[in-house]
Amino acid sequence: MAFITGTTKDGREWTPQFIKAIDKDLCIGCGRCYKACAMDVLTYEEVDSDDTAKAYMTVATAGNCIGCQACGRTCPKKCFSFEPVEAHAFGYTS
Ligand code: SF4
Ligand code: SF4
Repeated sequence: MAFITGTTKDGREWTPQFIKAIDKDLCIGCGRCYKACAMDVLTYEEVDSDDTAKAYMTVATAGNCIGCQACGRTCPKKCFSFEPVEAHAFGYTS
């Protein structure tokens, strides 16, 4: 099985781990992951419309993800799961 791979600045191959899910039951809505993501993948979702309502993080645009895992590294509650993506899913082969 061939996964989508990238290349570091000095030419070494690496396999991006793309966002799979956020466990909203663990999420405390701290926003650290939101600030870390440069690709606008994440967004807040409020439990209800009250100003004091709990908000948690959710995946808005998974297709923007570049698989850097920065979001997961900032998360104090280990909410994130990641996965590589098969290259043939997009007709891409390397
Ligand atoms: S893996 Fe990187 S690009 Fe993807 S959601 Fe997390 S921080 Fe954003
Ligand atoms: S860093 Fe973790 S706990 Fe904080 S908002 Fe993101 S997913 Fe939720």
